[in-house]
Amino acid sequence: MHASGEPSFRESVDLMFNRAARLMNLSPGLEQKIRVCNSTYTVRFGVRLRGKIETFVGYRSVHSEHMEPVKGGIRYATNVNQDEVEALAALMTYKCALVETPFGGSKGGLCIDPRQWEEHELELITRRFAYELIKRDLIHPAQNVPAPDMGTGEREMAWIADQYARMNTTDINAKACVTGKPPHAGGIQGRVEATGRGVQYALREFFRHKDDMAKAGLSGTLDGKRLIVQGLGNVGYHAAKFLSEEDGAKIVAIIERDGALLDDKGLNVEAVRQWIATNGGVKGYPEATYVEDGAKVLEQACDILIPAALEAVIHKDNADRIKAPLIIEAANGPITFSADEILRRKGTVIIPDMYANAGGVTVSYFEWVKNLSHIRFGRMQRRAEEARSRLLVEELERLSADKGLGWTLADDFKERFLTGSDELMLVRSGLDDTMRTAYQAMREVWHSRNDVEDLRVAAYIVAIDRVAKTYRSKGL
Ligand code: GLU
Repeated sequence: MHASGEPSFRESVDLMFNRAARLMNLSPGLEQKIRVCNSTYTVRFGVRLRGKIETFVGYRSVHSEHMEPVKGGIRYATNVNQDEVEALAALMTYKCALVETPFGGSKGGLCIDPRQWEEHELELITRRFAYELIKRDLIHPAQNVPAPDMGTGEREMAWIADQYARMNTTDINAKACVTGKPPHAGGIQGRVEATGRGVQYALREFFRHKDDMAKAGLSGTLDGKRLIVQGLGNVGYHAAKFLSEEDGAKIVAIIERDGALLDDKGLNVEAVRQWIATNGGVKGYPEATYVEDGAKVLEQACDILIPAALEAVIHKDNADRIKAPLIIEAANGPITFSADEILRRKGTVIIPDMYANAGGVTVSYFEWVKNLSHIRFGRMQRRAEEARSRLLVEELERLSADKGLGWTLADDFKERFLTGSDELMLVRSGLDDTMRTAYQAMREVWHSRNDVEDLRVAAYIVAIDRVAKTYRSKGL
């Protein structure tokens, strides 16, 4: 229990798990086995920096090895701790099961403020942390595959991959030891945008089900819907950008560390992102109203609230004041267990984290498969698709000529049709398909059982059931 009177993050995840497990027919032993975190490794290592030895504390937690490798990001933040990595590792297990990526759950973290260090210093620190994890098979293509999370990105993943390759010169699958690498270093197109893109696809899928929308008192399409986004990091930025640029949603507020920006007509996400990059925060952005108390903005009226930064931003003390009828958890654990209860009582619809932000690990899966197959992603399908498309084009042109219709296909259409199966397109369509299928699995449970009140419990039921099936078929 925290000083705040709330359960800790890990306790919160366990309590949510319990709500679902209660409605399932699991043997008590199996239920306990699935819930607990298998192991958490803590490492303290020193790096000589700026003339003295700095000691860093890092973690890699493995929640469930019902499938291997286990998967999950590595977070760089000053408040990283064991409770948090264990909660996040557990969420990874359920997330992977829900979107059917064949991984167990893991998560890592390093207590560090990355902004305090120069790039070459961060490289030293990252390589040293990776070395400690590689030595213990906590980074390994067949056993444990990290990825980016808060405070890390392509750059850190490239260092980790290189560190692994140096320590395992004969491992032909070395590249698959980590995902989220830059495309030129064994990564895949569309991984950086993947989590935000997944949020967009999740909302599009939600908006295809009128009865689900009605539960939140919403109707119509995403076009013109008023969105509040908390956190314009990688996930929040991409979600806000795609939803506003491609679906016509209006980003009426962006909440950041140093305050919030408001604009009823809709903020220009790209411009705000640029402003933050050059000025270190949102304050001073000329095209919108600035409010210092960002937390208050969470409570403003809107159609959809997207918490996309930290955990526990919606808690027992502000949950009652949240007005959004629909919340999509782009971050992991943004709503505490107590807040979840309050919101549920109010009838707020919550699209849960384990589903909403699963786009990242889904595309990580594509990257891992690409690395193991040693062939450009989709290359085989691409040849077959091209051949089929060419047949269709020829047939259309022949028919038109035969019947004297005089139809011609525009060159740019022909070009796109014949070659439109590049990596990015395949990644996006694979992600879309995954998000739709997973939503439908949750929805099926939500609608078919009277004892299932909300999407979160439905998601846990689908995920736990899949993990339980794997354990049962393997034999514990
Ligand atoms: N850190 C991301 C998450 O929380 C991605 C994990 C991965 O790609 O393995 O889901």
